[in-house]
Amino acid sequence: MAVISELEASVRHIGEELARLSGGQSPTLFERRWWSQAAINLAMHNPDFKTQLFRFIDMLPSITNDQRVVTLAQEYFGSMADQAFGLGWGLKALAATGVGARLSGHAIRAQVEQMARTFIAGSSVADATPVLKHLWTEGKAWSVDLLGEATISDHEADRYRDRCVDALHMLAKAAESWDHMPLLEQDHLGQVPRVQLSLKISALSPHLDPIDPDRSFESVARRLRPIVDAAMRVPASLIFDMEQAETKDLLITIFTRLFMEPAYRTFPHAGLAVQAYHRATTRDVEALLAWVRQRGTPITVRLVKGAYWDSDTIRYRQRGWPVPLFEQKAETDANYEALARRLLEASPEIRPAFGTHNLRTLAYIEAVAGQLGLSPSTWEYQMIFGMAAPFQEAVLRYGRRLRLYTPVGELLPGMAYLVRRLLENMSNESFLRKEYVESQSLATLLAPPAAAPVAVSAAPPGFRNEPLRDFSLVEARTAMQQAIGAAKEQLGQQWRSMAGGLNLTGPLISSYNPTCPEEIVGIVQAAAPADVEAAVRRADEAWPAWRVTPSERRVEMLRTAAALMRSRRETLAAWEVLECGKAWREADADVAEAIDFLEFYGAEWLRLSAPKRLGQEPGELNHRLVEPRGITAVIAPWNFPLAIPTGMVSAALVTGNPVLFKPSERSPVIGQLLAEILVEAGVPDSVLLCLPGGPEIGRALAQHSAVVTIAFTGSKKVGLGLLKETATVAPGQRLVKRVIAEMGGKNAIIIDETADLDEAVAGVIASSTGYSGQKCSACSRANVHASVYDLFLKRLQEAIASLRVGNPEEPGTQVGPVIDERAQATILEYIKIGSQEARLLVEGPVTQPGWYVGPTVFADVAPKARIAQEEIFGPVLAVLKADSFEEALSIANATEYALTGGVYSRSPANLDMARQRFDVGNLYLNRPITGALVNRQPFGGHRLSGVGAKAGGEDYLMQFVVTRVVSEQTLRRGFAPTE
Ligand code: NAD
Repeated sequence: MAVISELEASVRHIGEELARLSGGQSPTLFERRWWSQAAINLAMHNPDFKTQLFRFIDMLPSITNDQRVVTLAQEYFGSMADQAFGLGWGLKALAATGVGARLSGHAIRAQVEQMARTFIAGSSVADATPVLKHLWTEGKAWSVDLLGEATISDHEADRYRDRCVDALHMLAKAAESWDHMPLLEQDHLGQVPRVQLSLKISALSPHLDPIDPDRSFESVARRLRPIVDAAMRVPASLIFDMEQAETKDLLITIFTRLFMEPAYRTFPHAGLAVQAYHRATTRDVEALLAWVRQRGTPITVRLVKGAYWDSDTIRYRQRGWPVPLFEQKAETDANYEALARRLLEASPEIRPAFGTHNLRTLAYIEAVAGQLGLSPSTWEYQMIFGMAAPFQEAVLRYGRRLRLYTPVGELLPGMAYLVRRLLENMSNESFLRKEYVESQSLATLLAPPAAAPVAVSAAPPGFRNEPLRDFSLVEARTAMQQAIGAAKEQLGQQWRSMAGGLNLTGPLISSYNPTCPEEIVGIVQAAAPADVEAAVRRADEAWPAWRVTPSERRVEMLRTAAALMRSRRETLAAWEVLECGKAWREADADVAEAIDFLEFYGAEWLRLSAPKRLGQEPGELNHRLVEPRGITAVIAPWNFPLAIPTGMVSAALVTGNPVLFKPSERSPVIGQLLAEILVEAGVPDSVLLCLPGGPEIGRALAQHSAVVTIAFTGSKKVGLGLLKETATVAPGQRLVKRVIAEMGGKNAIIIDETADLDEAVAGVIASSTGYSGQKCSACSRANVHASVYDLFLKRLQEAIASLRVGNPEEPGTQVGPVIDERAQATILEYIKIGSQEARLLVEGPVTQPGWYVGPTVFADVAPKARIAQEEIFGPVLAVLKADSFEEALSIANATEYALTGGVYSRSPANLDMARQRFDVGNLYLNRPITGALVNRQPFGGHRLSGVGAKAGGEDYLMQFVVTRVVSEQTLRRGFAPTE
């Protein structure tokens, strides 16, 4: 206790001293010289304004037209015009109508550029050199951070590598002649280079993906080695920045693997950042320290609080994953202090660097170092260029080594990038806000971090989507790898029939692995059309008992099935990899969606099945009753081989109908697995009969007079055919048949001139090449505004050429095969047609046998071209140019389909127009257009994309029931029961 209070006394003492040295100013996050205090206050206290302002700055670099800058400013600030126009940072000019639009647009840009100069040392290394020299003469070291766009292609990764190497040479040359600064050039372990570069590792590869650490390492290391070579020659120090939580382990692995290579093992100026907000960092630091001892050469460890708290937290919560970061600022602060102590203790083996703008933290580090008796040359402080200037001064005057983290890059895009970082740090929990906005007394600022106890909140009741697997976790990867291995052991087996004991008389169907077509995945006994009669009879006999089975009991069966799927999650996904060629994440998502359908329809049925009282008037009692329609045929596609049939089958079952289920002939093994799970969960095998087979079985089922509901998902041609064939009523037919037909799409994404191209290109690629474009929701058209058309095409082309097309058993594969030879032939035929209709931009690489089609993009496609109108169902994308958003929208709407659509735009007016006029069943704004989630994005189209309620939505189950209303007159002889 005594030690603690002694330490705290010393923290207090040093803190007061540092505060005095900082001139008594509490540093502002935003320097007043470039923003009026009014703007700061407005941004800090009006979250809407803050978001608008930062989003506006984020978008600004992409707008080249001055007039457009002005209209966008009006779109952004229209509702807050009074406040915004009073700010005097450019928008003021807008109010003066006489000034003219060109001038105003220019003025706005100039203002933001000026703002950027506070945070960015120069638009290029050459431009920044005088600033860096000036810092040096002031006694400040620096670490240059080269700003740039997100890396989505090999070409862009190469360019970042070259920029890094060039920067090292240029900086070293410039720094050569600078004055000697002993404090900055010598620490407890020896010489400290003048040049330091901070590296954004994700910029060194388009393939940095924690699902595949080995190939990520290879891809990054290939570009890192020349940078390290240059740094060793120069010499310079290199620090890995930390990024999003998912990549933390991967970056650490890349660091330790690379710097253990014989050529780099003795390089003493490598370092990496560690984030105190991450719960695992204590463990990571211990592991790093052990590694350093093994390596035998010191490293730099830069301790930061972490800059991605908001986005990481939101993303993890959105995915239903446990958030790996501390929730409270005080917990992070406390962890920072514990880690700081640990790093100081370890300083004989490492170079500690402390990234902080926090007075208490600075004082704490000083106090602990004093306690440990360390020389001040042992550690350094790092602060961000342009931020917290008073603390920079204080640290300097205190005689400590200070290094400024200094962004260098084009001003406007750089500012956009920085604003994103600021946006991240501006939430209420954020330390910057705490310290700079809410002015607090010195005593409060210097008090030890104390986390308030948080009440453990129970998860809110109701349906929750099954979280996808987090493949950044080694356990998740190992489980999947093992499941694939185990499934491969069972390849080629014949599966027992799941037709309720009926003897099916069709042929044996062999299912082949699209990746290795000679490999038989499994063999199932098909039904023959003649078997349908017996199957119908069996179902009909079973129906009376099934329809009176209590709803709760049937719901229970769905939940049990969901639990079985959870327990076989990887196994099911592994079969999808082998039978359908799905990449890991795609396979996993399909299983998760199947679980969602079971849980959601179960919960929905509990809501819907009870008699519902209608109206509240006295003297009458009206009840809505729902009852099963009868025998239901489920005719399923192969592309979501588990989820789609699970949805259709479970909806029919839970509402009390018997089901004759025909899985696709292209995914019979997974159909089989679904039937097995439902029967194991308690569904009688006479209520659910699995009848494998091709179109002839589908037709026989649909045409049978006792089959009253047909739940079909598949192509437009087959769906429309079913609607036609089932329209006439056969003699003795009990009900008019209902056909629920979910059909195809020709889905477009619009990219306007305000779009964030980093996101738009990545989103179009994910949406058009995910599962080789074999999703009804896939993007097959990109309608791009003329002013960004060429740039979009260039980045798209490079990114497509960088895709990893390969065997989906390997975790890093982005694009696998198409389903079979027939599909491949159809798609190749369309590619031939496209080559005649438009300009072939890029055809992705295919280097292996199997049913592959390289992702292919056609540019300059005419709106009426066949490749712009017909569903291709493969990785073929048509890019169309549009001169305005309206034009892009009418092109998008001009097909016979209306399934999904997307818009990448940062114009509120355009997004609004899309909401109103983009005629699709599911519209996605600023995100990929595939991957609809049960309940959150109920899925389905209209026009020729489908008839029926949205799957995974609240109306879906009503399609499987008849509704009866019973009204009773309750007033009898003058007496009505009291209610
Ligand atoms: P498909 O139409 O060829 O086959 C679907 C199912 O219908 C299969 O089980 C098949 O055996 C059966 N079938 C084929 N001909 C039949 C006939 N004449 N009578 C009865 N049944 C018949 O489609 P597919 O290739 O399996 O799936 C791809 C298509 O499905 C694409 O067009 C895609 O857009 C669409 N799809 C739509 C959705 C959606 O929700 N809207 C979802 C997935 C797939």
